[in-house]
Amino acid sequence: MSLINETHDASLTSWVSSANVENCDFPIQNLPFATFKRKGSNEALRGGVAIGDQILDLAQVAQSGLFSGEVQDALQAASETTLNKLMGLGSKANSALRLALSRALRTGSEQQATLESCLVAQADAEYGMPCTIGDYTDFYTSVYHATAVGSLFRPDNPLLPNYKWVPIGYHGRSSTIGISGQSFHRPQGQTKAPDADEPSFGPCKRLDYELEMGIFIGKGNEMGHPIKITDADDHVFGLCLFNDWSARDIQAWEYQPLGPFLAKNFASTISPWIVTTEALAPYRVAFSRPAEDPQPMEYLSSSFNSEQGSFDVQLECLLETEKMRNAGDDAALLSKSSFKHSYWTVAQMVTHHSVNGCAMQPGDLLGSGTQSGPEHEEAGSLLELTRGGKEAISLPNGEERKFLEDGDAVIMRGYCAKDGFARIGFGEVVGTVLPALK
Ligand code: MN
Repeated sequence: MSLINETHDASLTSWVSSANVENCDFPIQNLPFATFKRKGSNEALRGGVAIGDQILDLAQVAQSGLFSGEVQDALQAASETTLNKLMGLGSKANSALRLALSRALRTGSEQQATLESCLVAQADAEYGMPCTIGDYTDFYTSVYHATAVGSLFRPDNPLLPNYKWVPIGYHGRSSTIGISGQSFHRPQGQTKAPDADEPSFGPCKRLDYELEMGIFIGKGNEMGHPIKITDADDHVFGLCLFNDWSARDIQAWEYQPLGPFLAKNFASTISPWIVTTEALAPYRVAFSRPAEDPQPMEYLSSSFNSEQGSFDVQLECLLETEKMRNAGDDAALLSKSSFKHSYWTVAQMVTHHSVNGCAMQPGDLLGSGTQSGPEHEEAGSLLELTRGGKEAISLPNGEERKFLEDGDAVIMRGYCAKDGFARIGFGEVVGTVLPALK
């Protein structure tokens, strides 16, 4: 089954000239969604699509009179302050909108004159949460991360026996998920050093990031009616970058027997732009398991999932310390990885989540879990890169880190590239650590 259509054609260019610049994250083949308004204004948030260094204001486009029918309905939905309604329209309506916008933004489009007045420069915009996130679930889909972290927390029993059978996850909270640019106070809580008799209370000493992908649910399912793996892709709106900040010392003391709690819900940061799964179609890759591993159960298997279930999204994580910022130095690259290494696919996460009858709703967010690659230097957290805080990493300006310090900003970026197709990007997600509240 080919998901490639005219919107993916690498030869397409846009009349928005900044979209045609090499290595631009937002060429006409991408067309990701966000909510935005002009910086510092009292305007209402509304949906927008990125094109080059501009945003196409979908509320204005909806009022332009250029479109009708299914596309106009989708534009009306995208005019709201959140994208939940647009997400809930499902992949057919969203695909129709993508095709219409692709044609309208192409070089030579007759709609150029009208749409030029619907552009807002990204430099003049601020972003909102793209949708109301009703529920948030974090998975744990990198077997390399699970093994590395497991060996630190449980040296004699790193990978628990359920890992290769069940897409492991936990229910998180949506109330502290914020948009890129978020800053938060270092969390406080209970911790217990391995050699201490009793726990103590205070600011987290082992603050970490997690390099993840966020997955937004599109069309929901009715309670009691699981999403079949063959339908799962129809229920996914798109992907974003996701930093799932983690307090490792709080986590180590609290996580047994019920799993993550306060170590995980003080802040999580998403990128403003959601890249649709349709835009990601060219960068799908085969999903497979080593022959010696258990193969996924039947409800988690389909030929399409095996042939094209994974996404090759190149991920990178950078650190900008306060000292670097003050000196005007570039952020330091900490690691690179790819979402293609995930042990479970997006479709398997969605299918497993609903297999018991759980209802998924438009705008629900799934975290992929930390996306560490097979090599040590591809780790998606400091916990792994520093081997549990034992080996400090050296930064180009001479600073060292075992865990995050106050003033540190973590930057994550992602992009897809493949011969014969355009390079498309996710932009970035940035978050900054503030000192603990006194
Ligand atoms: Mn996580």
